[in-house]
Amino acid sequence: MRVEPDLQFIKFLKGAGGDTLKNCYQCATCSVKCPLSTDTKPFPRKEMIWAQWGMKDRLVADADVMLCHQCGDCTAYCPRGAKPGDVLGAIRAYAYTHYGFPQGLAKLASNGNNLPILIAIPALLILVMWFISGGMHLPDAETLHEVGFGHFFGHWDFKYLTKNVFFIDIMMLPAFAFGAFAAFRGVSAMWKGMVANANVNTQFKPSLKQFVEQFLVPSVKEILEHRRFNECGTNADRVSGHRPLVFAFIGLFIVTNYALISKDIVGIFMPELHGPIGQLNPIKILANVSAIALIFGIGTLWANRARTEEENNTTATFYDWFLIGEIMAVGVTGLVAELSRLIGVPVLAYLFYYMHLVSVFMLFIYMPYTKLAHMAYRTFAMAFEKYRESNFVKKEEA
Ligand code: SF4
Ligand code: SF4
Repeated sequence: MRVEPDLQFIKFLKGAGGDTLKNCYQCATCSVKCPLSTDTKPFPRKEMIWAQWGMKDRLVADADVMLCHQCGDCTAYCPRGAKPGDVLGAIRAYAYTHYGFPQGLAKLASNGNNLPILIAIPALLILVMWFISGGMHLPDAETLHEVGFGHFFGHWDFKYLTKNVFFIDIMMLPAFAFGAFAAFRGVSAMWKGMVANANVNTQFKPSLKQFVEQFLVPSVKEILEHRRFNECGTNADRVSGHRPLVFAFIGLFIVTNYALISKDIVGIFMPELHGPIGQLNPIKILANVSAIALIFGIGTLWANRARTEEENNTTATFYDWFLIGEIMAVGVTGLVAELSRLIGVPVLAYLFYYMHLVSVFMLFIYMPYTKLAHMAYRTFAMAFEKYRESNFVKKEEA
């Protein structure tokens, strides 16, 4: 086999936490120690040699790279300090940019030097919207308490759709749709690569219903139950941060959809649904509990990441810390905005609300290129693993 190493790829891996790559001497201890590795399909030893050889195309289409959940067991036992867990993390970071759509934005979001631009884009957009809306004035504490952030973008006499809802919708809905579409494009490209890489003949294709029922839903279930995380030995603490985070995202997803349906759709016919939700309303309680779970979960992962970096002498990467900082920003700005509203400090409340909108917008549009993309990529890699073991493929092989 003729190997043509991609030197740029190797350089990227070294800068993204895989600087120990060359230490590997192929002893395979990592594949033995990895709780997810199997006898028939061991990893990450083979990924280490592929990475040393710069085999970019093979690695970005390798389902095992996406299945790894960076528990660190392999890194802890590697006799050469090659840190295979971190190398796989660096390959994933590369893959999210490689599959990223559009490429310009994907490249922008993958480099820490661009952080000021990444923040400036949504910060300016929301500032311009604030200016256009005519809402650029602070309410008094009484109005803030009564209408919440409902007048942030100003208000008009049209009672069926509040101006605030309108302005948030025209910014956040396209941002979310864009993020979801970009993730879909990336995951589709990865799927095609995995099919080609694993030599899977697609003669017997599952229908969409079969794909969802037999491969996608069981994968999502497995993720929610944290089955693979629980097999982690060295860094078992990660599950105590990851679990509340996942449930916080689910809670906030429910709350957001409730607000979208009640205020933006039903609210057109029942204007009384507009305005702040009472503190004892179950949806409000769910929102507050989810916000606390979000901050607790990401705080635990923050501490855990800092500790393992110190203990393993691992390089801190933008890929790892951007997501941690971003989720923390969403949780803290949302909570401080709400508390400032409740204690009646309009300047603080509006400032943190603005920062909250900026951080949520960033989460939506940069999701397909950051570590959060693993939600989509890993889910489909797990679905692919199940598909590869299924009768659809085996039928063809028989
Ligand atoms: S990464 Fe470490 S444990 Fe794995 S094969 Fe290389 S030297 Fe051995
Ligand atoms: S980090 Fe954990 S899951 Fe990933 S390869 Fe190493 S042992 Fe396996």
